[in-house]
Amino acid sequence: MIELAPNTALMIYLGLTCCLVLGIWVYHHFVYRQRPRFRPQHELHICEFCQSVYMTSLNKEITKCPQCQTLNRDNRFQR
Ligand SMILES: [Zn+2]
Repeated sequence: MIELAPNTALMIYLGLTCCLVLGIWVYHHFVYRQRPRFRPQHELHICEFCQSVYMTSLNKEITKCPQCQTLNRDNRFQR
């Protein structure tokens, strides 16, 4: 059996505990870093006819321009 002094055992215990906490922190740091902070509810569109920019909710294939009241299809703003 390995004999340890109480101070050595305490240092090993504290070192392992610090490594565990550091590992959990690093894991959560990288997991939350890749996740977007908020998901957008609206999307930017450009009218095909009057070129005005407006926002509508996501996943709408046909949108209505608030400026000229025409219907637009798949006119999402491209970066
Ligand atoms: Zn328009």
